[in-house]
Amino acid sequence: MYFIGVDIGGTGIKVGLTDEMGNIISSGDCPTYVELGYERIISDMSDKIIEVVNNAGIDIKDVKSIGIGIPGVADVNGKVYYATNLKWTNVPLGELVRKKFPDKKVKIENDATVAALAELHIGSMKGKGTGILLTLGTGVGGGIIINERVFSGAHGIGSEIGHMIVGENFYDCNCGNNGCLETFASATAIIKYAQKLISEGRESIILEKAENDISKITARTIFEAYKEKDEVAQIIVERFVHYLGIGIANLVNVFDPEIFSIGGGVSRAFDFYIDDLRIEVSKHVIFKDVPFGNIVPATLGNDAGIVGAAMLGL
Ligand SMILES: [Zn+2]
Repeated sequence: MYFIGVDIGGTGIKVGLTDEMGNIISSGDCPTYVELGYERIISDMSDKIIEVVNNAGIDIKDVKSIGIGIPGVADVNGKVYYATNLKWTNVPLGELVRKKFPDKKVKIENDATVAALAELHIGSMKGKGTGILLTLGTGVGGGIIINERVFSGAHGIGSEIGHMIVGENFYDCNCGNNGCLETFASATAIIKYAQKLISEGRESIILEKAENDISKITARTIFEAYKEKDEVAQIIVERFVHYLGIGIANLVNVFDPEIFSIGGGVSRAFDFYIDDLRIEVSKHVIFKDVPFGNIVPATLGNDAGIVGAAMLGL
């Protein structure tokens, strides 16, 4: 049996055909013409699916399912409530794809959840039944896998790990709340905090590394300064670790997964903070004598989207 996995992003659509082990047999991509509306995107995606199946020399009858990862939130029937980068609200994606491929199972999930499934099948969480992926990038995304199945709640809107409220912060989250994990543990969060400290007059080599332009500070410049024992960078990274530790401890206390995987841009600095992060998590877990799931860096790159989406069909 074969599986189709689709990764719809704001700039491109990737389609892959996999076997039941998640091995990619054939793949292809095309641009996402956001301005032309969802009908065009779904039409381009469907053409690409047929092309990818034909290129593999297999019959579409042998494809069991079509799984799709979207940068947004969908309900259990595949209606996309919203996908900001695609400018979609209430798009009946599942229904429209089922019309084009009537005999296929069609499943639609948030792209971070899909990436978590890929990590579980062929990446950093391989061999585990229950695991949680946190992606620390522009925002904080996440995916929860329980007994090898994605968990997104009864209405498809759960597993918003980045919007767990873990403290009070000096700026509000895009979602309207204050204190979301995303505002402490994303690349955006640490950049904003660095900009705040430096604009308050703290001296730091972070500014030199950013060509003395506060708007050019990146997560990379902060971690480089941290490596060179810059005092402000130490404060920033300690705060990041503190709140990320609280977030992960909350997940331990609620889900007790076998493993945590950290992905996204900020995971490149994993070695700098992992030891302190484990200590911070251990301070906030309730059952201190019981070990908690290991925290590892994510291993999958670009193909995580299509492999994870394909594995939705298992
Ligand atoms: Zn939020």
